[in-house]
Amino acid sequence: MSKKWVYLFTEGNASMRDLLGGKGAGVAEMTRTGVPVPPGFTITTEACNEYYARGRQFPEGLWEQTLEALKVIEAQVGKKFGDPSNPLLVSVRSGARESMPGMMDTVLNLGLNKETLEGLARLTDNRRFAADAYRRFIQLFGKIVLGVDGEKFEHVMNEAKGKDRQDTDLTADELMQIAETFKTIIKEDTGIDFPEDPYEQLRMAITAVFNSWMGRRAVDYRRVYKIPDTLGTGVNVQMMVFGNMGNDSATGVAFTRNPATGEDELYGEYLVNAQGEDVVAGIRTPKPLSKLREEMPEVYQQFSEIAKMLERHYKDVQDVEFTIERGKLWMLQTRNGKRTGMAAVKIAVDMVNEGLIDKRTALRRVQPEMLNQFLFPIVNPGAAEHATRLAHGLAAGPGAAQGRIVLDPDEAAARSEQGERVILVRTETAPEDFHGMVASQAILTARGGLTSHAAVVARQLGKCCVCGCGDLEIDYKAGTIHVHGTDTVLKAGDWITVDGHSGWVYAGQVETQEAEVIQVIRGQMKPEESRLYGYFSTFLSWADEVRRLGVRANADTPTDARTARLFGAEGIGLCRTEHMFFEGDRIDAVREMIVADTAEDRRKALAKIEPLQQGDFEGIFEVMDGLPVTIRTLDPPLHEFLPHGDREIEELAHKMGINPAQLKAKVESLREANPMLGFRGCRLGIEYPEITEMQARAIFRAAANCQARGIHVHPEIMIPLVGDVSELRMQGDIVRRVADEVMAETGQKIDYLLGTMIEVPRAALTADKIATVAEFFSFGTNDLTQMTFGMSRDDAGRFLPAYVESKLLKDDPFEVLDQEGVGQLVRMAVERGRSTRPDLKTGICGEHGGEPESVKFCHRVGLNYVSCSPYRVVIARLAAAQAVLEEQKD
Ligand code: ADP
Ligand code: MG
Ligand code: MG
Repeated sequence: MSKKWVYLFTEGNASMRDLLGGKGAGVAEMTRTGVPVPPGFTITTEACNEYYARGRQFPEGLWEQTLEALKVIEAQVGKKFGDPSNPLLVSVRSGARESMPGMMDTVLNLGLNKETLEGLARLTDNRRFAADAYRRFIQLFGKIVLGVDGEKFEHVMNEAKGKDRQDTDLTADELMQIAETFKTIIKEDTGIDFPEDPYEQLRMAITAVFNSWMGRRAVDYRRVYKIPDTLGTGVNVQMMVFGNMGNDSATGVAFTRNPATGEDELYGEYLVNAQGEDVVAGIRTPKPLSKLREEMPEVYQQFSEIAKMLERHYKDVQDVEFTIERGKLWMLQTRNGKRTGMAAVKIAVDMVNEGLIDKRTALRRVQPEMLNQFLFPIVNPGAAEHATRLAHGLAAGPGAAQGRIVLDPDEAAARSEQGERVILVRTETAPEDFHGMVASQAILTARGGLTSHAAVVARQLGKCCVCGCGDLEIDYKAGTIHVHGTDTVLKAGDWITVDGHSGWVYAGQVETQEAEVIQVIRGQMKPEESRLYGYFSTFLSWADEVRRLGVRANADTPTDARTARLFGAEGIGLCRTEHMFFEGDRIDAVREMIVADTAEDRRKALAKIEPLQQGDFEGIFEVMDGLPVTIRTLDPPLHEFLPHGDREIEELAHKMGINPAQLKAKVESLREANPMLGFRGCRLGIEYPEITEMQARAIFRAAANCQARGIHVHPEIMIPLVGDVSELRMQGDIVRRVADEVMAETGQKIDYLLGTMIEVPRAALTADKIATVAEFFSFGTNDLTQMTFGMSRDDAGRFLPAYVESKLLKDDPFEVLDQEGVGQLVRMAVERGRSTRPDLKTGICGEHGGEPESVKFCHRVGLNYVSCSPYRVVIARLAAAQAVLEEQKD
């Protein structure tokens, strides 16, 4: 017996997503709970994978099982596939485990041919409807199954409609004529006679859905969302119900809560006398669901009850599709609704307050990166007042964006590749526009609501979007946009600004300002004035209740430190002292120090820098009162502080009162073949101990001063680029000696730690030895990645993208920590270090400290904290909480 490839909707349930795909599991679950769903069956994702494994051939038994399932449906509904006297029509719908909205294809009204068409007309006593179904079927089948360019069909439709008519105004005869023209186009394009045999149609459509899994749209989409190619898609074959049977019929899409704001209101759109794709594709402007309440109150009532029931059943916002056939409601799809970051947080918090979910579930629901959307810039209200308002639409995606108008997705992709900021403006968007949407700063459409393709994609990308700007009349050929009711005509290339919070579109570049949450954090707005902030902070406080991993920030200035603390950083994990060297006139003293030939001259120059550094540290200690501050001693190669051009060298020599040739020789002498592996890190302090000494003194004097003023200081002095314990011991001796001196001189006892970066593989390998001196480790995963891969970070841009593109590497290891390789060194160093010193404190301060997957890894290997840029602290807080929840899979 062959494997079971086909499941009736009555055989499936919500837990079978992997096997049936999201759509299949959804319709099965609805069927199970008694919701009206047209009967049908699902071909499994395993069948799709087997189809590919067999070189694009149906697996054994698949077709036989399909025919059997079809028989069951026929018996259930009393219609017969291909039978002119009472024809059963079906839809053939794709559906993978992860929902990929609009990325795959659906064929409707399958089973129609000349004979069944007549039967349908007779049975429904509605020839126009039958003709409409027929032309739709040929159009979809031609485009999706036979690969004919859809625009050819649309062109025919537009010609037939003329200027003033809509598709609903076309007569039965006209529609039949159009259908014939479609067939001719298909024949000319593909050489294929349109298949009349319904079974042949079905076989071809199933094949096409399988094939669409490897189509460009689907592959592009999976690449962006990192969805594996190996999942495969399910195929759903389902009895057709018709929303295009007249004015008592309709089709629509709805969310159980507003997907842009999270407001608890049934939000949706529908079209009377239309079929599925029409709403999403913006064929006509859909009506808001509130209208349905007036037009068909009973259906609305039933629908809203089902919607709420589904939300309670799934305990999450549902995105549902429905069709009304002659006053009878049918549900066609339900899935968890995609939402903006703001909506995600609000919905999660609201649902906890409603008792629908617990806090843990709430925390699992929001992807850490989504929190970023709370921090996106918004349009400055003052500037907006003076700006020219062009049009208003639905605020569909977060933030504000400025860019040049581009009307074509290919062009958007090309221009953005060249570094231009573009905004894609379309009447409506379609799945094939995806690459252009990804490349744009914002998406702006003239048609469609929050359920339109543009809005769905923008939400998922976290991209600024305004949709349904009805006043924009776009002329693709002329490359212009006319603003309805005005003389304004915009051209491709013109600057506009799109406000994804208010829905306004402005001419030109309108100034933006910081997000509401940031304004509150900076004290420019009262917390109680911002609802957004309320949700944001409540949600993050729940993350803090759960997480064990500490979160610190990388900050070099008091300003950064303040921001970090306001975002919830529990200390500074990396304060780079060299950044202070560049400020103001200090660079002069630094250069003097570098150029100095004797230790004595060097000390003189360092003496000028010392009080300035001390001041910097005092500023940071003050802000971080009560929290630890990790300060790294000088790290970069010295040549970074010197000019390189002849003229600049001459100027500097002049300023310093030395011989230009001498300075030039110095610059030359510092040149290295491989600076990242050269004279840097602790090697500087080893060659020039007076540098370390000066820095240590500045730190401890600053600490003593602050402590005397009642500030709680916890300095942690960190030596970079250590590969052997002897390096750390030598530098550590200096630090400890200076600490003792300063404590004696000031009478302040300072509680400090001495530790090291672990960023050279040898340090990780000998961590047990290093921990005899180090009281803490901080993994510098940027350097550690660079040295473990043997890939220079500064040069990797040339070849690394190709690695990721061709999937040799899953991710760029400088973005996402390579857990398999670099991660092993981290794990090993923690274990070995703690074998010597059980209370060894460990953290990470590379770029990875703010990347959710890497943060979770840090939790798993038992680090004490991660440290990241101030703006990513909130992301790390949530990721750290999710790491705990992932351990307790319940
Ligand atoms: P997508 O994955 O792009 O949402 P679907 O498979 O959901 O594609 O199909 C798109 C639309 O086609 C649905 O929203 C629905 O309106 C319509 N549709 C699909 N199957 C049927 C059916 N059996 N009867 C009526 N309409 C259908
Ligand atoms: Mg759908
Ligand atoms: Mg480093």
